[in-house]
Amino acid sequence: MNKKIVLASNNAGKLKEFREILAPLEIELIAQASLNIPDAAEPFFTFVENALTKARHAARMSGLPAIADDSGICVNALGGAPGVYSARYAGEPKSDQRNNQKLVDALQGAEDRSAYYYCVLVYVRSEHDPQPVIADGRWSGQIIDLARGSEGFGYDPYFYLPEFQRTVAELNAEQKNALSHRAQALQELLKKLR
Ligand code: IMP
Repeated sequence: MNKKIVLASNNAGKLKEFREILAPLEIELIAQASLNIPDAAEPFFTFVENALTKARHAARMSGLPAIADDSGICVNALGGAPGVYSARYAGEPKSDQRNNQKLVDALQGAEDRSAYYYCVLVYVRSEHDPQPVIADGRWSGQIIDLARGSEGFGYDPYFYLPEFQRTVAELNAEQKNALSHRAQALQELLKKLR
């Protein structure tokens, strides 16, 4: 019988991507909402603390092993901001459009436009697992001033990949899922779990 693991996210896109990449492990990945588990708070300064807290919360509430992720965009000229605050960079209610505008404004006149998407994944066997499995991924690009493309979400229309001469919003889902910070972290997690 397949082993059940809870995914501490209710994002349908993520669930699909995680299921596809982790398919070789023959696990049954269950979204936490289907077990009526509410989202955990993410109050920390680091991605890994947020992800660990989400994974522990899902493991505690379900009694099952759990996987959680945390991700964001880090801009070098801004000292790594917005980082863990990426989703709410321009405040509540969260808005991709206002976040992107704030980012473009913050980079006015900046020579260094380099940035990276970062993703960390944490797997815990149980709530008190003393050795969580941790994997991460990093995807580098440049922030541009004018949006390009309509795929993806979040900062994708402003995140330019010089090697493809496209923004992430100009890649299709298959291309993004082969390259992204989340895909890189998932591949590393897959290796470690094997
Ligand atoms: P979360 O880890 O899914 O909560 O993502 C945090 C935030 O980081 C998102 O709301 C986006 O603003 C940003 N982010 C993370 N991954 C991506 C991505 O692949 N594309 C665009 N924005 C992203």
